[in-house]
Amino acid sequence: MTPAQTQPLESTTTLRHDWTRDEVAALFSKPFNDLLFIAHSVHRQFHDPNAVQISTLLSIKTGACPEDCKYCSQSGHYATGLEKEKLLEIEKVVAEAREAQAKGASRFCMGAAWRSPQAKDMPYVLEMVRQVKELNMETCMTLGMLDAHQARQLAEAGLDYYNHNLDTSPEYYQHIITTRRYQDRLDTLENVRTAGMKVCCGGILGLGEGRQDRIALLQQLANLPQHPESVPINRLIKIPGTPLAEAEPIDSLEFIRSIAVARITMPQSMVRLSAGRESMSDEMQALCFFAGANSIFYGEKLLTAGNPATDRDRLLFERLGLYALQSGTMSEQTQQNTALASSPPLYYDAMAVRHNADLTA
Ligand code: SF4
Repeated sequence: MTPAQTQPLESTTTLRHDWTRDEVAALFSKPFNDLLFIAHSVHRQFHDPNAVQISTLLSIKTGACPEDCKYCSQSGHYATGLEKEKLLEIEKVVAEAREAQAKGASRFCMGAAWRSPQAKDMPYVLEMVRQVKELNMETCMTLGMLDAHQARQLAEAGLDYYNHNLDTSPEYYQHIITTRRYQDRLDTLENVRTAGMKVCCGGILGLGEGRQDRIALLQQLANLPQHPESVPINRLIKIPGTPLAEAEPIDSLEFIRSIAVARITMPQSMVRLSAGRESMSDEMQALCFFAGANSIFYGEKLLTAGNPATDRDRLLFERLGLYALQSGTMSEQTQQNTALASSPPLYYDAMAVRHNADLTA
């Protein structure tokens, strides 16, 4: 056996917040099979490997965003042909949430193309949160930067998650966005945490970054004081009219490696296949699930971009024997598994954990 195969998993199964870039780089550099073996083993220690959490995303205010994110169809800086829309009415948002729930979504994410919410908009978004919560769905919003007061207001309205991505490495960030700083993003994440909400935070691959930037992005995420509960890993959707319209696509195996490293460095988090899934083959998605992805966006539209047709997703779930996680079930499973992960065997079976728990109940 090679050292990589015999290496115990203990070093990867505790929740760490002190990853060095060299350590993350060493994971990326492993032979593909070794990396996937470790990632999948970690995945089984913390999660049911056949359960996938499903979120649906709705754009509640589209276009004319003052930020200049070079990948985004909604930035007012680029001529993408997108029609600007006003904030959606609350009734329409709730109707969409109800429909998403009927199709199996346990979490409803609402996104607005804002630099940050304005005071006049807050009563509406707070009411959206309250009414979607009444459907017994988890709620998530992405509204741009939040100050401490806005974060508290959203938390008090019952918002479960706030999405705010780091996008890329601190070093590469300036090539992608110039209208706000990396530190602004970290400050928003801190405000969200302090207010008591869960964090959804990840990045985008294929922005023209190098592997060192992917390493740095995952290191940043894994070294946050608390790992984000959700880590969306997006694959760039090239939008005509944006500066990244002709970006070199990220290699599929490198994307899967990134999923695996996210899983190893943030074992308890839900790692989400987000934007760009439409361009992935079923086989690539299957490898992503094996490498530790356990959450997807479901629905035919992702804010303004395409997403795989829901029928294709249903079929893929059937072919892979996956099932949709219901709201709230993961936290119990994760808690059990986290408790048991203090002395992990090499081959761990999350299903056996459930079985044992049943026997001792
Ligand atoms: S990613 Fe968000 S903040 Fe950036 S331009 Fe698009 S809508 Fe605005």
